[in-house]
Amino acid sequence: MKVRVWLMIALLSLVCAFCGTLMASDPIFADAAEEGTPCSHAWDSGSTEKAPDCTHSGSKVLTCILCGEKITEPIQPLGHNYETAVIKEATCTETGKINYYCLRCEATYEEVIPATEHNYFKIEIDGDAEYCHDWKYECQDCGAIYYESTETEERTTHDLSNATSTISQAPTCTASGIRTGTCALCGEEGSMEIPALDHDWVVVDQNFDEASNTTTVRYECSRCTSTKSEQVKAETDGGGIGVSVDLSEILNRVAEYYQESIYGPYQSLLLMLFGIFAAIWGIPVGVSYIIARKQDDKEKAKKMLVNFVVGIVVSFCLLVAAPFLVNVFMQVILSLT
Ligand SMILES: [Zn+2]
Ligand SMILES: [Zn+2]
Ligand SMILES: [Zn+2]
Ligand SMILES: [Zn+2]
Ligand SMILES: [Zn+2]
Repeated sequence: MKVRVWLMIALLSLVCAFCGTLMASDPIFADAAEEGTPCSHAWDSGSTEKAPDCTHSGSKVLTCILCGEKITEPIQPLGHNYETAVIKEATCTETGKINYYCLRCEATYEEVIPATEHNYFKIEIDGDAEYCHDWKYECQDCGAIYYESTETEERTTHDLSNATSTISQAPTCTASGIRTGTCALCGEEGSMEIPALDHDWVVVDQNFDEASNTTTVRYECSRCTSTKSEQVKAETDGGGIGVSVDLSEILNRVAEYYQESIYGPYQSLLLMLFGIFAAIWGIPVGVSYIIARKQDDKEKAKKMLVNFVVGIVVSFCLLVAAPFLVNVFMQVILSLT
């Protein structure tokens, strides 16, 4: 009986061990066994966390449909969505302006539209009495023109200044004349205007009227019979000729001449000369002064000192202060007259 019991226990143990193995390999109980292997995530389309704008990136959150894990991914900035508006159209000669503005945000900027080129049309121009044969270029867009021969808006006038041309109508003092002949430039017959000569005035007489203090000058043209007269008011002190001399003008000119022609360009040189003179002048005078002092000749020493000062002052006036002194001198004269 005891042996049977032991056999039963051994058999039961075997059965239990077998069942345990089965339970471990059963898929229903697999969870615990697979906990260590990673999830091959399957992300959803995500939900926007922060919307991007033209220049700033946004973000979205993705969720794994298998394990529920969440990750955040950036969303690229959208970039501006520009619309354009022409503010000023470009022309042949002037640049234009175009405005760019973003339909999404406030961003805006302007750009220059380069000027277009002239759209020239070439037209043949026949020569006439005054002008040579030529080609005219006219812009179809803006109307700008130029002539081939001059490259300007002016046409080329016949050149009749050669010997074969003749004066068919002489110019007078007031009216222009006409010259005709073969043009040296184009070889065609043509005419050319000779400008009026203008009167050649000669003084016939002049009368001074004391009452009005004016001189009446009468002129006659040496070419035609025209005459004219001019009233010239005399200066306060009167006199024969009414032409007044502006003294201040002359004095100012003298002062200006001193300043600009002599003392302006050579200023540094004159300063240097003054320095050299002062040094050279100082040596003999200084030596004489010392000798005189030693000999106790006060009179001579004083004379030497005066000599030195006078020399320095004179040379300073001539070389350095002249423009200023001339100016002062002129002002004094002006105030006296
Ligand atoms: Zn997952
Ligand atoms: Zn924008
Ligand atoms: Zn044009
Ligand atoms: Zn010509
Ligand atoms: Zn005349």
